[in-house]
Amino acid sequence: MPEIIEIDFLRQEINSQLIGKTVADSFLNKEKASNVSRNEFAGILRGKSIIGARRKGKVLILDFTGNISIIVHFLLTGYMRLSSAFDISKLQAGIIFSDGNCLCIGGLMGNAFVRLIKTSEVFLDRNLKVQGVDALSPDFTLQVLEKIILLNPKKFIKQALTDQHLIAGIGNAYSDEILFKAKILPTRRCGTLSNYEEKALYESIFLVFEEARAYGGESELSFVHLNGEKGHFNEHFKVHKRQFQKCNDCDSLISSTKIDGRKTYFCSLCQK
Ligand SMILES: [Zn+2]
Repeated sequence: MPEIIEIDFLRQEINSQLIGKTVADSFLNKEKASNVSRNEFAGILRGKSIIGARRKGKVLILDFTGNISIIVHFLLTGYMRLSSAFDISKLQAGIIFSDGNCLCIGGLMGNAFVRLIKTSEVFLDRNLKVQGVDALSPDFTLQVLEKIILLNPKKFIKQALTDQHLIAGIGNAYSDEILFKAKILPTRRCGTLSNYEEKALYESIFLVFEEARAYGGESELSFVHLNGEKGHFNEHFKVHKRQFQKCNDCDSLISSTKIDGRKTYFCSLCQK
């Protein structure tokens, strides 16, 4: 699933390629994923221009002139790409600019959404209001992580990392890789972590982000860059989805367990 780094790539790419572009037309084929009808979606966006893109956790925010914003949550399988050769019938939503390019949206399933709201009310939207501290924001300090851990002593550390109400942006794959790098088992209760481990965890979050960025993000399921290219971070995962394969660091086999119904991968020798 696209996590914080993948959504951040989209944010950057939209900001470098689409600012000032005018909407000639737009369409919404999957009304169920939105808060407006297909006619409203097209009518409200027509003639507006893109001001920029922002992000909160894994939610992408596109701002348009006229106090209009679109917020998109891709969940597991959604994607967004820019294309001049597109088939509207195969997409769930799209914004067609006056230069003929379309910002295509597809793959939205379950609770994934593309919602149209007033820019001035973006952070009042229930989907954004509930998000915790953004993992890439300067507000996410070691002290903030320590406080989250302190306030949730009974939670598994894996749960705390992936709970979007606590920390926004980290999902299943990244949390497995972060915990491996920090040498902490995903099943450890927050209350058992030492100060040293908290610091290692905090540093590992950013080391994994850096690595993910260097590989262009992960395209395990649906993520592609605006130009359609895939990221390669998933080809370099150390534990995530590597059950029964050898750990690169110690040669033992990668194990898995379920936490909150989600499969979690770890090395039982490297992680304590
Ligand atoms: Zn190992």
